[in-house]
Amino acid sequence: MSENTNELPAVARNINLACKKCGVDRYFVVVAHTTATSAKVKCEVCGAQKTYKLPTEKKAKSSTGAKGGARKAATKKPDHSALWNELKTQIGTENLVSYNMKTKYPMAAVIEHPKFGIGFVTNSFHDKIEVAFLEGGRYLVHNRG
Ligand SMILES: [Zn+2]
Repeated sequence: MSENTNELPAVARNINLACKKCGVDRYFVVVAHTTATSAKVKCEVCGAQKTYKLPTEKKAKSSTGAKGGARKAATKKPDHSALWNELKTQIGTENLVSYNMKTKYPMAAVIEHPKFGIGFVTNSFHDKIEVAFLEGGRYLVHNRG
């Protein structure tokens, strides 16, 4: 048996995936790793976001006969600190800059906010950025210079 060393592409990397919105294969930028096997990705062309999941091999071990409507809709809340730590590992804090609304921040920029602390830019728009802070995601203004 060959070992499966599937790994998620690194944050800010491009991967080729089918974009439903564009209707063709597009390059998607990896925005963040949400779990060990899935990542939030964004179409470079239309900006559509989706979750990229690593293909996993299903191992059918002892069948735990989950037949008969044992269907639980587990709606887990995203663990912000886990995401933040993942981003810290992926992006690092070497290029940490103080947040300033006049500056334009690209994706994967690392900023220090006086109130929210260190954050990683997971989305960059014309006049705002989405930043992952330890306590959760926030939109901040930027590019107001
Ligand atoms: Zn697209």
